[in-house]
Amino acid sequence: MNAGGVLEVRATRVGVESTLAQIVKTVEQAAASRTRVERTVDRISRVFIPAVLVVALLTFGGWLWYTGLAADALMHALAVIVIACPCALGIATPLAVTSAVSAASRRGILVSDAQVLETIRGIDVVVLDKTGTATEGEFTLLEVTGDASRMPELAAVEAYSEHPIARAVVDAAGSTRLEARNVRVEAGRGITGAVGETIYFLGNRSMAPAEEPDAADTVVHFGWDGMVRGTLRLGDRVRPEAAQLCKQLRANGIRTVLLSGDSTAVTRRVAEEIGADEWIAEALPAQKVQVIRGLQEKGLSVGMIGDGINDAPSLSQANLGIALGSGADIAMQAAPLVLMNRSLSATIDVLHLAERTHSIICQNLFWSFAYNVLGISLAVTGVISPIIAAAAMVLSSICVLGNSRRLQA
Ligand code: ADP
Ligand code: MG
Repeated sequence: MNAGGVLEVRATRVGVESTLAQIVKTVEQAAASRTRVERTVDRISRVFIPAVLVVALLTFGGWLWYTGLAADALMHALAVIVIACPCALGIATPLAVTSAVSAASRRGILVSDAQVLETIRGIDVVVLDKTGTATEGEFTLLEVTGDASRMPELAAVEAYSEHPIARAVVDAAGSTRLEARNVRVEAGRGITGAVGETIYFLGNRSMAPAEEPDAADTVVHFGWDGMVRGTLRLGDRVRPEAAQLCKQLRANGIRTVLLSGDSTAVTRRVAEEIGADEWIAEALPAQKVQVIRGLQEKGLSVGMIGDGINDAPSLSQANLGIALGSGADIAMQAAPLVLMNRSLSATIDVLHLAERTHSIICQNLFWSFAYNVLGISLAVTGVISPIIAAAAMVLSSICVLGNSRRLQA
């Protein structure tokens, strides 16, 4: 409630840039994108139609020759065309895919490329980013060792970073009027910036060469004037669903790798806590991409779950990038799958949804093929009239529709 004061509001993103508009765009893209099955069905449909026309012509010719009645022959040929109208076949896949995409979006899972539903079924290994993905990504500053006199200056620099560590430093320092200049974010390493005439830096060992204590908590070194002055010890909590996710992935025959730019000690502890099969620590963003490429070179299909700016390259390198919503926007753009409610367990939901979509598509295709083969045979032999054919055709489409709708349950 603002009674007499002045509110200064800045809309940072309006119109087509707003989150809602982007969600709409993503869903439209997904609907327009085609899966491999769809493309195959399209190809079949292309030969299907001329083939049906030929069969209809043959039916006409056959009956004309057999009975000599042009009207009768025309009726039978018409029945062939009507019954074979490849409606059920044509809608079998897109209907299932659209149903799945919309079922997913209702659970807060944004699918921007329908191909995802097929890719996810073939995933062999899932790489999990640590900070903000396997963990909550909400750090609290536990301890400052060394020269703690310039926390406000350090916080002024961190105010420009989106990293969860930065948020903890800013929160711990409280409000400050200091302004930092020339801030540079070094993805996966740390940050530098000037306050007044002094250049400050915060980061891991690769930024600030210092003794790394073998702590189970995240440690950030800080300093100014080119000298390391102390360390911050920060605590983060492992997400409760992370262990569940690793377990379920293993049950589905998928290996898990925890990948982090953080120290070995912290990464190992988190990996043990969530039950990841493997862990890789002190990886810079470029090395994270390398890790994924390495797995792919072994012939594995790799899924990557991440949230931060530094995850964007690995998310797009992976066969399936899964971004946690409310993470950095760039991460969300780099991934065809976004979990808007930030819940890791949604990954398993998508996996199951993809399995169900696949079986629904198979059922749809099988039954519409069976229907067409049976229907055309009956029409060619003159057993059914065009009216019955029309009714059967509508019925088959309704069956496909109803079967696909089951995905929404
Ligand atoms: P993760 O791979 O676990 O998500 P990041 O790659 O985001 O971790 O960061 C790796 C390390 O780089 C952090 O553990 C931290 O030591 C350092 N770091 C990154 N950004 C910052 C920052 N803004 N301030 C201080 N340290 C940072
Ligand atoms: Mg991260």
